Amino acid sequence: MRAEVISIGTELLLGQIVDTNAQWIAQRLAEIGVDLYRKVTVGDNKDRIVSVLKDSLSRANIIITTGGLGPTQDDLTRESVAQAFGVKLVEDKELLKKIENYFTKININMAKTNKKQAFLPQGADPIVNSQGTAPGILFKKGDKIVVSLPGVPIEMKAMMEESIIPFLKGDLLENEIIESKVIKLIGIGESSLEEQIDDILKGQTNPTVAPLASAGEVKLRLTAKANDREEARRLITKKEKELEERIGEYIYGYNDDSLDSVVARLLWAKDLKIATAESCTGGLIGDRLTSIPGSSRYYDRGLITYSNKAKIDLLGVKEETLNKYGAVSKETAKEMALGVKERSGVDIGIATTGIAGPGGGSEKKPVGLVYMGIAYGDNVETYKYNFNGSREKVKYLTSQTILNLLRLKLINS
Ligand code: ATP
Ligand code: MG
Repeated sequence: MRAEVISIGTELLLGQIVDTNAQWIAQRLAEIGVDLYRKVTVGDNKDRIVSVLKDSLSRANIIITTGGLGPTQDDLTRESVAQAFGVKLVEDKELLKKIENYFTKININMAKTNKKQAFLPQGADPIVNSQGTAPGILFKKGDKIVVSLPGVPIEMKAMMEESIIPFLKGDLLENEIIESKVIKLIGIGESSLEEQIDDILKGQTNPTVAPLASAGEVKLRLTAKANDREEARRLITKKEKELEERIGEYIYGYNDDSLDSVVARLLWAKDLKIATAESCTGGLIGDRLTSIPGSSRYYDRGLITYSNKAKIDLLGVKEETLNKYGAVSKETAKEMALGVKERSGVDIGIATTGIAGPGGGSEKKPVGLVYMGIAYGDNVETYKYNFNGSREKVKYLTSQTILNLLRLKLINS
């Protein structure tokens, strides 16, 4: 099955918005094993939309468009799909009723222009929009399928999840079952990962193994095709074992696991309480540790101690330490971690202090230099890292790193 995605909207061409829809759709298609061959962006112009549609139809058998389904003049997707297939737009009475009902329900008078949304290319089916008015369009003709989704991301996503993904998985892939599993790794870069599993990546067929890098972690997506679920799972498990033998030490989780949730689970399971003292991360670690429901079970408090005074007042860091070694130092990180642990009476205190940049660096202490501390039981350890990148990235990588260091400590204790 060959797919193409067409993003419709002049806003996209002018660079006023980023095409996150196409990215999201591409990820979802990859997950279910549909091969995406091309992504195209076109403005709100009927002739050009029709031409792009025809072009894609000549190559691919499934085309997904987003945008231009609204009721206004510049929403031209409906007409363009009809024209590309050489059919008329016809009013769907049932659909009109649904749209009218939606407006009644939200207690808003329906504008005349919304009637336009009840028109579909002849022979097409509407796709239910659980998040708004504009219905999507599903047009099947021969072995070609065009799916038109709204531009508004939550509406588009809901339609994909509720209607299109199940449709693609069931109808189109027929008896073929697709299973996928994501392995999440930390502490290894994408290129060294690829080096270590080079032969596996090159020799892959079923399951396929796709590395995906994001800030501070790497994922491997395994996708297997088989005639039944059991067989697909068996293929995945076999490949997973092979990968675990090679790179198991870097695996922190699977599928929907996040580093936050894995750390939370460990703290929870061990019945430990934690407090954070953050300087350069400005509360990011506290935010991540509290993003999990039930976090009050393990999270006691977080102090953002940005200034030297705050470090002294709230954590009991010694003035002498700050003067002698500076705020960004191993010694300060250690006293911060110990201070927050002792003052809050928890099991674990963690601390960060560093230079997030872009200014403020020096030869001895460059931008990206970060010290971290973990005080756990009677022990306190410090870590030194040099990160590269923007201020935001340095902060994020610091949070990733300390959460991973903590995870390893929890596993090994
Ligand atoms: P509406 O009913 O709101 O007119 P629509 O289906 O006609 O919806 P558009 O008018 O093309 O969609 O876009 C509506 C809004 O959705 C845009 O202003 C933008 O905020 C968002 N949007 C559109 N296309 C994309 C895209 N490809 N990626 C991310 N956001 C998008
Ligand atoms: Mg619109």
